[in-house]
Parts: sequence; structure tokens; C-alpha cells
Amino acid sequence: MFLESNVKLQPAGWIEVVCGSMFSGKTEELLRRLRRAWYARQHYILFKPEKDKRYAVKEVVSHDENAMECVTLIKSGDILKYVGGVEVIGIDEAQFFDMDLPDVCQELAVAGKRVVVAGLDMDFLGRPFGPIPDLLAMAEYVTKVHAICPHCGNLASHSYRFADSDETILLGALEAYEPRCRKCFSLGNKLKPVGRKKLKNT
Ligand code: ZN
Repeated sequence: MFLESNVKLQPAGWIEVVCGSMFSGKTEELLRRLRRAWYARQHYILFKPEKDKRYAVKEVVSHDENAMECVTLIKSGDILKYVGGVEVIGIDEAQFFDMDLPDVCQELAVAGKRVVVAGLDMDFLGRPFGPIPDLLAMAEYVTKVHAICPHCGNLASHSYRFADSDETILLGALEAYEPRCRKCFSLGNKLKPVGRKKLKNT
């Protein structure tokens, strides 16, 4: 039997995507994965698009104030300038990056890096969002996380927006959104917002 015992395999990279609606815990899941890598003494770096200025500029802050330092960038292609010696790359709010992001992630994975991408899979109209659909197709591992629909208690995969605006990106207005299941999302403004005042940090 022929075994390539002397061949040194190149370290394999891959792409993971964590997606779902708003309030589904995408960022928490991304940060959890990066923390596990950190405990294992792996070098990691976290990026997010410069458009997301809702909270801090230099760190990702999830809704539960679970924060981690990150680099904010305008162009996804600039990620490649920061990843020398890095084994694990996290990208948060990836739906706001440009359409070069899938190619960038592909290049990183081919270079042997683990790429963990988190983002909204659908916008407030239920349409596939930015580069996320391509990344879902290209990824080795996909995790869809869900919020809970406050109207019926079913799993929520949509982000419903109450605010009257045509902007796809409406940042700094979390109170204008709520997670909804498919059916309640389809009912639109026939359903009134459910207050979240008992929850902290949302
Ligand atoms: Zn519902």
C-alpha cells in the first residue's frame, strides 16, 4: 500500500458563517468562537465594517455588552493587510461589507486560515443581504441562529422594522426593529411593536 507518509500536508483553512435575524445572538456566537481560539493560544483578529458605528468604534459590542477589540475597515480587501501570522479571522456585521468579501474569505481560507463570518442573512424586507448569500454557498460550515418571535413564541428568522424609511441600513435605532417568525413578519404593521423594557442592554 502506498501512503504518502513523507508528504507534509498544507494546513487546511475553511469558512464558517453564523447568520440569522437581529437579536439572534450572532455576534455572541462569533465572539465565543474567537475566545475559544484565544484560550488555545491561537492568534486571532476581528474585523467589522466601518459603517457600523452604533457603539464603540474600535470594538465589537454585542447587545449584551460582550465586547472584544476589533479593526474597523471600509473595504473588505484591506483585511488582507492585517492577517500575517494570524490563524483565526473573525468578521462581524459582514452584510455591510462590499461584494469583494467572499473572494477575500476564499483567499484567506486557501492560505490556511480559519475564517468566521457573522452577519444578517436577510434585510428588513426579507431579501438576501449583501455578500452573505455568496458566503453561505462557499462556506464549509453554516450556523443559522434564531431569535424568538415576541408575538407568537416561534423561532424568528426575520428582522421587522417599524421605522418609516427606505434605507436598507438604519443603524443606531435598535428599538425600530424586532425579530419575527415568517408568519408574523408577513403580517407587517398589523402587529404592533412588543416592548422590550424588561430586557437590559437592548
Ligand atoms: Zn411569530
